Amino acid sequence: MSDSYAVDVQDVHRRFGPITALDGVTLRVRQGEIYGLLGPNGAGKTTLIRTIVGLVAPDSGTVTVLGRRMPDLDVLRGVGYMTQQAALYPGLSVEENVQFFAAINGIDGEAGVRDALELVRLYDRRKSVVSTLSGGMRQRCSLACALVHKPKLLLLDEPTVGVDPQLRVQFWEDFRKMAAAGTTIVVSSHVMDEAERCQRLGLIQYGRLLSEGTPAEIRERGGSQNLEEAFLALAGQPS
Ligand code: ATP
Repeated sequence: MSDSYAVDVQDVHRRFGPITALDGVTLRVRQGEIYGLLGPNGAGKTTLIRTIVGLVAPDSGTVTVLGRRMPDLDVLRGVGYMTQQAALYPGLSVEENVQFFAAINGIDGEAGVRDALELVRLYDRRKSVVSTLSGGMRQRCSLACALVHKPKLLLLDEPTVGVDPQLRVQFWEDFRKMAAAGTTIVVSSHVMDEAERCQRLGLIQYGRLLSEGTPAEIRERGGSQNLEEAFLALAGQPS
């Protein structure tokens, strides 16, 4: 059954000492879908993404990615993960960072590196040392590292923080193209106009999936044409 889903999370619980980060999350993401995770600070989005990639082991419940029960190191070749804090080598150039991520994913050759750098519009800055880049450029470099091996599943934890509005729109256009070509994308965000661009949304609060559906369904359920207001209504906060 999991084969038709790129991600299949079943009743996952995870505590960190006294904190319940995930409290029985069940969700499935279809292949080629753009699925958005929305929720307030500390809701459990990052923990859920880390559980999907196998970096955090659930206390109970199961995670299946690309048809394989996680954790599974072989599956990771098909997964790209962009973390919230850029996981780059500051002393290396943009190109060297992307080459490194290509190499650890078994990708050889310049074409893939060039494609990734062109996609994030950093090809002309490929020789720059990462520590000299602006914050938004570092985000773009992280994205290039996450997708250089052309993963089947791309996990993006707030990928557009610090990215200028124009490039944000371009990123989303690229995400849409990747999804149309079959890449599954799970993306966390606080930005409502990004949420509108997802095919389905999962609203997470207190480690639980509060509501799930298309942006139109969430608006309808939350009783507002405005997604942010609908989200606040569903989250039980004053709007
Ligand atoms: P944000 O939008 O602020 O990034 P989030 O929805 O991604 O938040 P998480 O980072 O998943 O939230 O955190 C969920 C809860 O679990 C928080 O209370 C956080 O402090 C806690 N938590 C996450 N990782 C750890 C850890 N390694 N050790 C202890 N507590 C943790």
